Amino acid sequence: MGPAQQPTYPDSEAVDTAVSKLRTLPPLVFAGECDELKDKIAAVARGEAFLLQGGDCAETFSGVTADNVRNKLRVLLQMAVVLTYAASVPVVKVGRLAGQYAKPRSSDFETRTLADGQQVTLPAYRGDAVNGYDFTAESRVPDPQRLVDVYNSSAATLNLIRAFVTGGYADLRQVHAWNTDFVRESPVGQRYEAVASEIERALTFMAAIGADPVEFHRVDFHSSHEALVLEYEHAMTRIDSRTQQPYDVSGHMVWIGERTRQLDNAHVELLSHIRNPIGVKLGPTTTPDDALALASRLNPLNEPGRLTFITRFGAGRIRDGLPQLVEKVAAEGVEVAWVCDPMHGNTFEASSGYKTRRFDDVIDEVQGFFDVHRSLGTWPGGIHVELTGDDVTECVGGGDNLTDVDLAHRYESVCDPRLNRVQSLELAFLVAEMLRKA
Ligand code: PEP
Ligand code: MN
Repeated sequence: MGPAQQPTYPDSEAVDTAVSKLRTLPPLVFAGECDELKDKIAAVARGEAFLLQGGDCAETFSGVTADNVRNKLRVLLQMAVVLTYAASVPVVKVGRLAGQYAKPRSSDFETRTLADGQQVTLPAYRGDAVNGYDFTAESRVPDPQRLVDVYNSSAATLNLIRAFVTGGYADLRQVHAWNTDFVRESPVGQRYEAVASEIERALTFMAAIGADPVEFHRVDFHSSHEALVLEYEHAMTRIDSRTQQPYDVSGHMVWIGERTRQLDNAHVELLSHIRNPIGVKLGPTTTPDDALALASRLNPLNEPGRLTFITRFGAGRIRDGLPQLVEKVAAEGVEVAWVCDPMHGNTFEASSGYKTRRFDDVIDEVQGFFDVHRSLGTWPGGIHVELTGDDVTECVGGGDNLTDVDLAHRYESVCDPRLNRVQSLELAFLVAEMLRKA
């Protein structure tokens, strides 16, 4: 059997053409930036910082617009401010963006019932990196030219992000300006407004005494995505001229998912060779020995910041399942940052047919994650969330108390349901409270 979750391309010559093209293209990120992020994640592993990783489940090519990218960055900046201010902990900011275009699927096929009652089965949509979302036979054929499109879309996204984070938009003095439109009027928006005012007063005080550090004017922001399509990630893996070591320069951090973390799998092999900071998703079936084996395979030198375990157990299983994992990993002295993905263990189909998640389950899993770490004396290092900066209706609950029937109103995800901007800010306030107590 070949590597898991790979597209079956009908035209292998076209694959070679796309891969050759990718190999000639410049890096999207620099190896030195990956090292900087690794140092920051090492601080997370030591319990001195908190990781905020978030963005779409699946980016789309048509989603690469100035508004869309800005809105995602903005909600992440707002969340980071809330977490930093309310918990006095440095926040490491990592987007699930500029490369998050490929999706693992539980089933290779999708069946839909058409209006005339006819059932049609087609290959599953595997993300814009692989095939089209349109439900036609033609669009679902994997096309390797899409890998070059992933590169170009990622480059455009990163270019804009870099401009935003260094060019004034992410300046802390803009903290009020990020609180715009619909979110500003919501209760959580009002709560944010109060935080922003306090920060503004502190900044004015700092300026008055002559302190104006560069950290007020720009932020560090990093990109990440799931390393799934091997042709793409291999083509983007380059030898760094400083260190002579291989880095996957398609993003600062890459992770592998619950479906591709088998020890003898090509994805684990890829991650073991690159020098980026890396993550592995761990679902509820993970045994302590699985976790130890992954750590020794992926981080044999036990380098801090190199490896992040992103647990996604589900709200109902985390309190029972996580302790033995954390306990054993800690007892063996394994260096790892623990991060909670409270999304992927809590997905279900609403009566309306939409894939959704309950806001309360998301919060409950994060609370369980904090509880487990508190009881073991380990550090709850961060959260990994699917969110968007827009006013979508994909997850139920939250302050606006979205219900099943609301989902149809604005359901835009091509894959998993995301928290909208209000729900994301609410999550940040609740996590800030948990952090303060941790
Ligand atoms: C994802 O992060 O979108 C995903 C598919 O996660 P997992 O591998 O944890 O299921
Ligand atoms: Mn997802």
